[in-house]
Amino acid sequence: MDKRKILSTIEVKYNDKAVKVNLYYSPCKRIIFRFSYGELEIYYHTIIGQEKLKNYCIEFLKKNKNFFLNRPYYKEGLYIFVRGKKKYLTTDIHLKNNQTFFYYPKNSIDPIKQYKRDFLEYATIKIKEYSKKMNIDISDYKIRTILSLSYYGCFMKKDRQIKFDYRLFAFKDEIMDSVFYHELAHYFEPKHNDRFYTIVQLYCPDYFKYHFYLTHGYFQGDLDVYEKSINN
Ligand SMILES: [Zn+2]
Repeated sequence: MDKRKILSTIEVKYNDKAVKVNLYYSPCKRIIFRFSYGELEIYYHTIIGQEKLKNYCIEFLKKNKNFFLNRPYYKEGLYIFVRGKKKYLTTDIHLKNNQTFFYYPKNSIDPIKQYKRDFLEYATIKIKEYSKKMNIDISDYKIRTILSLSYYGCFMKKDRQIKFDYRLFAFKDEIMDSVFYHELAHYFEPKHNDRFYTIVQLYCPDYFKYHFYLTHGYFQGDLDVYEKSINN
C-alpha cells in the first residue's frame, strides 16, 4: 500500500480550472514536482509556507501546460482505471464480469488488494509471452508489484526479480507493453544507452510515443476520451 506521508491536498486555480495537488513531506529543502498517474504531486519541506508553495505551483503549471493533470487513476469509493478504461468500484458479485465495473470482494478492506492481484496475473502472462518472443529465459525470475516513486518497472538480474508499479494497470495494453519490453530489454543491456533503446524499439517501435502517454497520465493513449471531453 501507499506508505508515503500525505500532508494535505490543496487546490490551485489555474486557467479557470481548480487543479488538485497532493502534498507530501520531504526532508529535502528543494521542492520536487512530479506528474504521477494523472496527478500532480509535490514533495516539500513544511518549512516552506503553503502560500509560497501555491505560487511555485502555478509557475510550474505554466511551464508544463501541455501535461494533463487532475485525474487520478483511482478515486476511493468511486472508480479505478483498468487497462485504459474507467471502471466503477463494486462489491456486487453479479457485476463481476460487467465491463463497467471493477469488482472486489466484500470482505476485502481495500479494492487495491484485488487490483494488485489482477495486475500481477496480467503482467505474469505478458512477461512470459514477451520473453519467449525475445528469446530469453526468465523462468526462475519472480515478478512482483510495488508502489514506486521513481520508476515504472525494475529489472534485477542478480536477484532474479522484475518489479512493476501496480498503477501501470491503469494504462491501456500497448502502453503497459512498452514498460514490459523496456524491463525485458534490460536482460541484454543494463544501461539506458543507444543499444538499449534499439533493442526496445525492435519489439516496441512506438516506444517513445507510449512513454509520452505514460508520463502524461494518458491512460487511454491516443484517443484519451476524458481529455477530449474536458477540452471541448
Ligand atoms: Zn530501465
